[in-house]
Amino acid sequence: MPNDRAGFVYDRRLTEHVYRPDHPLKPERLRGVYSTLAELGAFERPNGDLLAPRDATIEEIQRVHSPEYVAAVMQASAEPDREYSRWGMQQRGDTPPFRGMHEASVLTTGASLVAAEEVSGGRARVAVNYAGGLHHAMRSRASGFCIYNDPAIVCRTLADRGMRVAYVDIDAHHGDGVQAAFYDTDQVLTISLHQDGRTLFPGTGFAEERGRGAGAGYSVNVALPPYTDDEAYARAFDAVVPVLVARFRPDVLVTQQGIDAHFTDPLTHLMISTHAREHCVRAFAAMPYPWVAMGGGGYDLDAVRRTWSLEYLIMLGAEVPAELHDPDPPHATGERRRAVDSATDAAVRDAMAAAFR
Ligand SMILES: [Zn+2]
Repeated sequence: MPNDRAGFVYDRRLTEHVYRPDHPLKPERLRGVYSTLAELGAFERPNGDLLAPRDATIEEIQRVHSPEYVAAVMQASAEPDREYSRWGMQQRGDTPPFRGMHEASVLTTGASLVAAEEVSGGRARVAVNYAGGLHHAMRSRASGFCIYNDPAIVCRTLADRGMRVAYVDIDAHHGDGVQAAFYDTDQVLTISLHQDGRTLFPGTGFAEERGRGAGAGYSVNVALPPYTDDEAYARAFDAVVPVLVARFRPDVLVTQQGIDAHFTDPLTHLMISTHAREHCVRAFAAMPYPWVAMGGGGYDLDAVRRTWSLEYLIMLGAEVPAELHDPDPPHATGERRRAVDSATDAAVRDAMAAAFR
């Protein structure tokens, strides 16, 4: 260890649930990632393993969620037409109750735990569950399309084994549920790069949210301006992530790789392309730690397909074919260039000033 093996957790059952026919989060999006990788021969490579998910146990879910909340999700799963708004679930809201939601969510969470077990057991240097990364769920509340917080459950499970965990969240939205789960501890460092909460859900993720007590300085937030493009994003990432992760000296790296920061994503206003993502994922791959990766947001299905396929090829150490890349990424110019650069640099300055020493 570290070896060169990579694992990809997949089963068609991870893609079959439907939140609501008009809902933007479409688990079926993973089928395109899987079939693209299959066509490229990714699953036949000698250093790659296709891993089957398992169900998370109730005990594992309750490492992060309250028993009352888990009971409410189980009831909503069986009887979705009743009232669950006190648990963050509403028919016309972001996170509607739907039949089978508990079963789909324990499988999604178990898939992330399989990735974590593959890595912590030394069988792979990196393993990824693109069905996971549901970073908004809180201890007793569903939020922002997220029912059980699999990244928090993974971090908690690894931390309970005595490991120091560095969690890096590059979804366009603040990783608020994971931050909240580890706000009081220095055993899990959380770093989130996201669109400024004044302009996007969930409205949090400012530099001054830096953790509390023993955790002071171990929650790090980089609140990027709308229209942040590849150039500004990569500069922010490079100024914060490698420096703080190295300073923290983790035993394991956990990443949430939502791709809703993509310039074609319908839900956000960040403007990055596959090129900035390649840069970030190569930086994760270059770090000398075992690495557990998850998906997250991503609502332009073709951007999801190309980006996550490209990312897994990087994890494998395979070549990335040009057809997965955006041919013509956006690039801010003129007044917008100056505005994006100055707001990005301020976000980096504030994040680094609030971080642990
Ligand atoms: Zn998101």
